[in-house]
Amino acid sequence: MEKLPLFINNHPVNGTGKVFTNYNPATGEAIHEVTSASTDDFAKCIASAKKGFKVWSAMSPTARGRILHRASELLRERNDELAQLEVIDTGKPIKEALAVDVISGADCLEYYAGIAASLHGEHIELGGDFAFTRREPLGICAGIGAWNYPIQIACWKAAPALACGNVMIFKPAELTPLTALKVAEIFAEAGMPEGVFNVIQGDGEVGQMLTAHPDIAKVSITGEVGTGKKVMQAAATTLKHVTLELGGKSPILIFEDADIDEAVHGAMLGNFYTQGEICSNGTRVFVHSSIREKFIERLVEKTKNLKVGNPSDPETQVGALISKDHFEKVMQYIHLGKEQKAELLYGGEQVRVEGCEGGYFVQPTIFASGQDDLRIVEEEIFGPVLSLLTFEDEAEVVERANNSPFGLAAGVFTNDIRRAHRVVAQLQAGMCWVNTFNINPVEIPFGGYKQSGIGRENGLAAIEHYTQLKTVYIAMNKMEDPF
Ligand code: NDP
Repeated sequence: MEKLPLFINNHPVNGTGKVFTNYNPATGEAIHEVTSASTDDFAKCIASAKKGFKVWSAMSPTARGRILHRASELLRERNDELAQLEVIDTGKPIKEALAVDVISGADCLEYYAGIAASLHGEHIELGGDFAFTRREPLGICAGIGAWNYPIQIACWKAAPALACGNVMIFKPAELTPLTALKVAEIFAEAGMPEGVFNVIQGDGEVGQMLTAHPDIAKVSITGEVGTGKKVMQAAATTLKHVTLELGGKSPILIFEDADIDEAVHGAMLGNFYTQGEICSNGTRVFVHSSIREKFIERLVEKTKNLKVGNPSDPETQVGALISKDHFEKVMQYIHLGKEQKAELLYGGEQVRVEGCEGGYFVQPTIFASGQDDLRIVEEEIFGPVLSLLTFEDEAEVVERANNSPFGLAAGVFTNDIRRAHRVVAQLQAGMCWVNTFNINPVEIPFGGYKQSGIGRENGLAAIEHYTQLKTVYIAMNKMEDPF
């Protein structure tokens, strides 16, 4: 079986730490062995990143942008090949991987490539004397990825970090070690100097090496709330900057004047795309009582037609969950929903897929609940499980929507423009959509309120999180004796 390496100094290097196995979620078959980073490997990686930082931060921003731009082109050229790798690593449908995963990574590199050369400080006139600010990189940044969008997450973290002159050590999730290595190869091919983007493999313990190391200036992690708290705690010992992109249980509010078909599309996109394994999913769907029956009828009818199947089949719309453990967790939540007497409107069963008998497939599942305090309604399931709730008036639904420790995203479906703005202004969520859901172009900042995160990825906002300002005061007059 092929052994997946680490990637240090623009070259693959076998790790000397633990060896673990990587599985295809659609078949349950072992596909690779992966070598983790030992403390010695990690020390080499840090040394390489330090050298890389000297070279990279001294280059002109235009030259850095040119390399990022070339990398974005290479990603696009290899979309098919990389999308196929993403499918065998994650179990998501090829249709999605071809349309979203690699391309959104390439978009991000292209966006920050374009911005690199226009990053600047400001001049502050002080009446004779003056000051200016320099927008400087932080140094070595760590990127720690989740398993649902591996290549996209690697690019979303690397692109702004590198555009600002930082270097990055990236650790993909243990379950999806494949495509971060491809991003590293592409960076090397695009002309990135050695040590600018290194990849280390391994589990949470390897993640802890990153959060503990005093030479690392920043950690950006995508993961669960509990992991985010541990990372922030560990980062506090050396006061690292942190960006935390964490979980959610986001609400979708569907008012009586909404276009019902549009709202059904939004609810399906926000619950069943990528088998429900999306952090910003709108898993609490609040529907106005006057349109409840009509909405349910259309939602169930369309959900029944979704094709759950082999992720490599271009017709498949819902693929396999990432792992056996995760499958069991999702099935336990479904069981809990039934036990706690939520009304099962559709789904709830494992699906057997021909040719993928060892895979982890679950039917898209819709529960209706009369209560907001069931565990399936309150907790992040990270699978294709939608909870439908009913409301009577605007103030009530806003309060219920906000009644969650999470605050990643929210959606509002209405044709009343004043209501849309009024409601959005009251929602406690970092990302709100009106009459659509889960659309995240790289130009717009993305991140959570409350326990869903700290900091923002994408857009100009990310620049703030990968740079520090140095203020320089210039005295134009002779300094007087102050005493
Ligand atoms: P985890 O929190 O389990 O893991 C995330 C990453 O952190 C993995 O690389 C993991 O390594 C690593 N890790 C685990 N423990 C530590 C530690 N103590 N110190 C440093 N690193 C550590 O998340 P999942 O991979 O299970 O991803 C699913 C979660 O991610 C969901 O909650 C989802 O909502 C969230 N998510 C958030 C997004 C956002 O943008 N807000 C987007 C996508 C997902 P290992 O893999 O080896 O365990």
